[in-house]
Amino acid sequence: MNVPFLDLLAHHQPIRSEILSAIGEVIDQSAFAGGPFVARFEEEFARYCQVRHAIGVGNGTDALWLALLAHGVGEGDEVVTVPNTFIATAEAISLCGARPVFVDIDERTYTMNPALLAGAVTPRTKAIIPVHLFGQTADMDPILEFARRHHLLVIEDACQAHGAEYKGRKAGSMGGAGCFSFYPGKNLGAFGEAGAVVTNDDQVAAKIRILRDHGQRKKYYHQYVGWNARMDGIQGAILSIKLRNLNQANERRRRHAQEYFQRLSGFSGLILPFEAPYGRHVYHVYAVRTPRRDQLLDHMNHHGIGCGIHYPVPLHAQEAYRALGIAEGAFPIAEKCAREFLSLPMYPELQAEQIDQVASVLVAGLQ
Ligand SMILES: *Cc1c(COP(=O)(O)O)cnc(C)c1O
Repeated sequence: MNVPFLDLLAHHQPIRSEILSAIGEVIDQSAFAGGPFVARFEEEFARYCQVRHAIGVGNGTDALWLALLAHGVGEGDEVVTVPNTFIATAEAISLCGARPVFVDIDERTYTMNPALLAGAVTPRTKAIIPVHLFGQTADMDPILEFARRHHLLVIEDACQAHGAEYKGRKAGSMGGAGCFSFYPGKNLGAFGEAGAVVTNDDQVAAKIRILRDHGQRKKYYHQYVGWNARMDGIQGAILSIKLRNLNQANERRRRHAQEYFQRLSGFSGLILPFEAPYGRHVYHVYAVRTPRRDQLLDHMNHHGIGCGIHYPVPLHAQEAYRALGIAEGAFPIAEKCAREFLSLPMYPELQAEQIDQVASVLVAGLQ
């Protein structure tokens, strides 16, 4: 039996006709760029995240970039984040004209280690971007407390953590802004590109609404040099439907994670995901660790199991960031994880037999 890494077809089958009729409504109203369907989704998503505002944008990268811009991050500033994330986190910083500064991660949660922040801040530091990697939030209280003491902004990269919680608070709701991606494979995915910024700050929300629409408050009257970062009407309409199923889909992911745990715990040389007691993990990615990763990846692929690596090269070691001049060895935990991570199939529609098959093949590969 083959098991794909992701199965979007199975995910969309039960809501196919509902989605087609929603697309029909958008066509009937010709509400394609922004408009009422986006506005409705924004209200629903803000409520879901327990915040005052959600602003729909073009994708998660836009969300991060606009959140930084709206807070005045720019030329000469430094923004602290982690090296084990998708490059968009750092790109958003660079595209503002600021410089990404990295701190290493906690070895169990794979998120920002708050104890390392003190060694990373300089008089130029303006903001901190913790990344809620794989669907688990960073340890936010010490990060928020550190930021308060040093007058720094906190922007949450919640692009992998729709519906995740930290001490009862929703991912994205704790910092000055939270940034989401609705790329198709994310826990809440559009039918194309989309993203959102959530915030409780009325002024920041208003500014992002203007920036995402060419800096105009009124058509053809431009207050700022902005950008075209609007969400499509069709994506807004589809996301409203898919948001209703998000809690149930996350619940299923959590059950699959438990099943993997039951099948895979106790093998030496295999580290399973750790759910910190402070929160609720939504398993966007189910990544195990093994020192024989490359060998195991070949073995899994050979037996028809789709696997991924998130991510093979930490950002400070990427060619794109060579100019930062950070030597290998600077972030030993992130670097070790990059060598050892192996992401197993994880999606709400995974079947018990499929989990069984993934586990059997993996265990055979460990022998
Ligand atoms: C997906 C992702 C992004 C970027 O989102 P896009 O919608 O692809 O632009 C940013 N950060 C993280 C951690 C992500 O996983």
